[in-house]
Amino acid sequence: MEGSTFLRGIAAADSARVEAGDSGASASALRVRMRRLRRTDALRRMVRETRLDPAQFIWPLFVRHGSGVRAPIGSMPGVFQTSVDELLRDAQRAVEARIGGVLLFGIPEHKDASGSSAWDTRGPVQEATRAIKREFPELLVVTDVCMCEYTDHGHCGLLTPEGDVDNDATLELLAREALSHAEAGADIVAPSDMMDGRVGHLRGALDAAGYTDTPIMSYAAKYASAFYGPFREAAESTPTFGDRRSYQMDPSNGREALRETRLDVAEGADILMVKPAGAYLDIIAAVKRDSGMPLAAYQVSGEYSMIKAAADRGWIDGERAMLESLTAIARAGADIIITYFAIEAAAALRAR
Ligand SMILES: [Zn+2]
Repeated sequence: MEGSTFLRGIAAADSARVEAGDSGASASALRVRMRRLRRTDALRRMVRETRLDPAQFIWPLFVRHGSGVRAPIGSMPGVFQTSVDELLRDAQRAVEARIGGVLLFGIPEHKDASGSSAWDTRGPVQEATRAIKREFPELLVVTDVCMCEYTDHGHCGLLTPEGDVDNDATLELLAREALSHAEAGADIVAPSDMMDGRVGHLRGALDAAGYTDTPIMSYAAKYASAFYGPFREAAESTPTFGDRRSYQMDPSNGREALRETRLDVAEGADILMVKPAGAYLDIIAAVKRDSGMPLAAYQVSGEYSMIKAAADRGWIDGERAMLESLTAIARAGADIIITYFAIEAAAALRAR
């Protein structure tokens, strides 16, 4: 089982220790030399434990209305908000790079308290999904299901008069949004709101409408993270008051992630997700071991922008840091990596 890779590694290390013995052998008597298999690139390649494949990358894209729009996002070099026509160019790049798929976020023209643009059949995500499935039917389209891009207050659901996010009332809105994505042709819907019970609720709504074969990729363990900073600019989803700590997870908690992910499995999630990725490798490994489920990890905007910014200043080698960060996420147990590096990483892997 994939999830036990790490444990097998520990067992192997144990037997190596036994082989080496506990004698204070002189250097000339060393029988076990770990460096033997590190000597050449050919040897290192042969014994490599983790290999990246562009098919495991999902590329997040931000879509808005209009035509000919390709607006750079200042805090995320190389990332843009685009109109659907421009998005199709990116979809073509995704197909050519043979990456796993794209994840669509919408920036609506109109925001209101209930985020009603979220289920507009002519909304940017719905239009983009239809266009991609028409032009590139083989490209996997995952859609973000959440209210924060669509509400005028920027929170992930309906507010109570006291200003709390109303969990159960929000579920209805998420179902309408997910259904409109499925109708537009989304291959996978990905709820990112962290409301309780939303996976079960969406599963019920999709099944009742005949979308029994539309998988749910659940943002199962999503932390209230400072690393989301640049995304807020990209998705124009900064809350106008307060923060998301009353529904997203506390970064201090690990065991709680297992409760969250077990609940989502019980409610019918097909793929689990941990977000962010780089600072949560322990969570990725634990969820993989515990669930055995297909597991995605989201290398978020801040993780991307930190590498880009440091590379831009010449402080690190950007390409090596990119591949090392992705390898670490895969090594921890992620089968799927959602990353803004998707196209760049696919090209780097091809060139090797
Ligand atoms: Zn949200």
